[in-house]
Amino acid sequence: MDLCDRLTDVRTRIEKAAQEAGRPSGRTTLVAVSKTFDATAIRPAIEAGQRVFGENRVQEAQGKWPGLRAETPDIELHLIGPLQSNKTAEAVALFDVIETVDREKIARAIATEMQRQDRKLRLYVQVNTGLEPQKAGIAPDDAEKFVAFCRETLGLSIEGLMCIPPADENPGPHFALLAKLAQRCGLDRLSMGMSGDYETAVALGATSVRVGSAIFGMR
Ligand SMILES: *Cc1c(COP(=O)(O)O)cnc(C)c1O
Repeated sequence: MDLCDRLTDVRTRIEKAAQEAGRPSGRTTLVAVSKTFDATAIRPAIEAGQRVFGENRVQEAQGKWPGLRAETPDIELHLIGPLQSNKTAEAVALFDVIETVDREKIARAIATEMQRQDRKLRLYVQVNTGLEPQKAGIAPDDAEKFVAFCRETLGLSIEGLMCIPPADENPGPHFALLAKLAQRCGLDRLSMGMSGDYETAVALGATSVRVGSAIFGMR
């Protein structure tokens, strides 16, 4: 299969998983995760009609996306990796969506930069559903309070929740937990599911899945 076939295959599987779960079709956005791949590798995906992409490093994304966007202006770019506060200005300038808002300091920095640059990004709060010490994200028990802080204290509009389940666990319960937390926060968008588990995520209500290797190949 070439990249175009893999992309079609992923899109078909998303639709099939939605259908089997009794979810309406066309409600899940495919975020193609292009980290570690250069512009030459990404271009065929754009030519195949893909418009939403995810990157996990600000600096790496800065190296390739301004050029690709000059060719195709309607690209939507998601930051899916941890954001350091000294990179906030660059991130706010480059990305359309930040999926990894996970602490007060970074939420404040994003709010300040959006105001300074007069840009409004779409934001997701990352939840560490597995309470893994090495992983970013707010603890599940603190999610509701943190979302309220972002909204009420900082005036940020939070679009949804995002999670990355522990690699060695059944992801289903983590996706279900994220859905439950989102409901409590009055949020209806869920970014969950990667190459190995996106069909499970769709069945459990994902409104976007972040798929890298199943589209671009092994990193
Ligand atoms: C790399 C990455 C993905 C994509 O992973 P694949 O297994 O290649 O699909 C999804 N989400 C995040 C946060 C990532 O860093």
